[in-house]
Amino acid sequence: METIFEKIIRREVPAHIVYENDVVIAFLDIEPTNIGHTLVVPKKKSENMLTIDSREWVEVMEVVRFLAPRIMRAVQAQGVNIMANCGEAAGQVVPHTHVHIVPRFTGDGFKHWPGKQHPEEEMRTIAETIRGEVLQEGV
Ligand code: 5GP
Repeated sequence: METIFEKIIRREVPAHIVYENDVVIAFLDIEPTNIGHTLVVPKKKSENMLTIDSREWVEVMEVVRFLAPRIMRAVQAQGVNIMANCGEAAGQVVPHTHVHIVPRFTGDGFKHWPGKQHPEEEMRTIAETIRGEVLQEGV
């Protein structure tokens, strides 16, 4: 299914494009968390970073690393969050791979998700289960 990002890539929908190469386009998020919030998007459709071709993903992340300090300089941010939401449960709304670059300012008030301690036995069990998954072939 087509998303709004394909329309932006084809210039059918306007966006504030800040960078483009053969593989990747980057434009301002329409509802920025902070000023300068940018989305880095591969031009070829894939659903998210879990399913994108790995070489293409490397290109996306090279552009993220190139752009992040430049965006920070442009808006005079002191930090940056780099995020890829994967799946509806994780807040992915647009099912086309993208990375958020969110400039952060000291005292801007945004908080990270709170962590909470889990019982040691649960931690040991889940670590063992994950190690088991890691050993599975062809996942
Ligand atoms: P997600 O929640 O899928 O990780 O993030 C999708 C992002 O795309 C959201 O932050 C949303 O504001 C942005 N977005 C949705 N529609 C448009 C649009 O038409 N133009 C632009 N520039 N950004 C959009």
